[in-house]
Amino acid sequence: MRPVRIGIVGLGKIARDQHVPSITADPGFVLAAVASRHARLPDVPSFPTLEDMLAGMPDLEALAVCTPPAAHYEAARLALESGRHVLLEKPPCTSTAQLEHLARLAASVSRTLYATWHSQHAPAVGAARKLLCERVLERVQVAWLEDVRHWHPGQRWLREPGGFGVFDAGINALSILTHVLPGPLFARAARLFVPENWAVPIAAELELEASAGVPVSARLDFRHPGPPLWEIDFRTGVGAVTLADGGATLRCEGQAAESPRPALASEYAAIYRRFGELIARGGSEIDARPLQCVADLFLIGQHISVEPFLD
Ligand code: NAP
Repeated sequence: MRPVRIGIVGLGKIARDQHVPSITADPGFVLAAVASRHARLPDVPSFPTLEDMLAGMPDLEALAVCTPPAAHYEAARLALESGRHVLLEKPPCTSTAQLEHLARLAASVSRTLYATWHSQHAPAVGAARKLLCERVLERVQVAWLEDVRHWHPGQRWLREPGGFGVFDAGINALSILTHVLPGPLFARAARLFVPENWAVPIAAELELEASAGVPVSARLDFRHPGPPLWEIDFRTGVGAVTLADGGATLRCEGQAAESPRPALASEYAAIYRRFGELIARGGSEIDARPLQCVADLFLIGQHISVEPFLD
């Protein structure tokens, strides 16, 4: 099969670290162009705006949207309206209505829309999902703690309206939960800690409910010094199942069931394999549940002002 000619919009950290290498390594794609206001890639046609790229590259077939989330909807809409397939970085949009509109638009123009959740492709997530199907779940505890200064240096959009704050990372944990837990996940209560100089939370304490009334609690914090802790602990009738290292490692009753592997690169390789499959069979994949859950938490959450966060 001829490789799909794909462009990237928003050449920042995740585009450089994961999308460019994953596209280059995948025989199903060829990186044909980049649109970014400031950044350029040597040997790849680079444009300052998405409109310029779409007009200047009529044979471009697909677009990977890697800008901050507040710019996702507009980029995806333009790309779909001009007949391109679209891969969306997470979080897909800043409102559930925007995502729903993109889904309808993709269907109406018969193009693929793939709203990605990279953590759902983490190496141990599939095994955890299988195990949890076989056990009775009693409760779930999430700790998603990292140092924003280390993981998101200079990314001021994170603290602005539509930037998601700590939910930019925490939504990864929610995307794992919606993937591995059977049934719906309901937001029950949220304490959202917002620094005086941020528009969005830097930390959050959450209470949710999985099916059959199983309680799910979560602690998210961007102020965590040192190594990150990205862990989900599932208490079941016959012991504990823990997904650690962002979904790379699985422990059952304290014993490692899957050995740690570098997670992020394999997650993005899987994302491009899936995008290729979806394009080939003319389908879309739009899992709105993690975004819906964050929107609900913001709707019911108590906003608590905390001291300015200076970095
Ligand atoms: P980033 O480093 O800030 O890169 C985004 C790029 O988008 C910027 O460098 C900028 O390049 C361009 N851009 C376009 N419109 C912009 C705007 N209004 N404000 C700021 N930049 C704008 O961000 P990132 O970490 O790559 O994250 C991008 C997306 O990927 C987000 O949705 C994020 O949640 C997701 N993601 C990030 C990671 C990670 O580890 N960083 C992991 C997985 C997913 P120009 O200035 O050249 O236009």
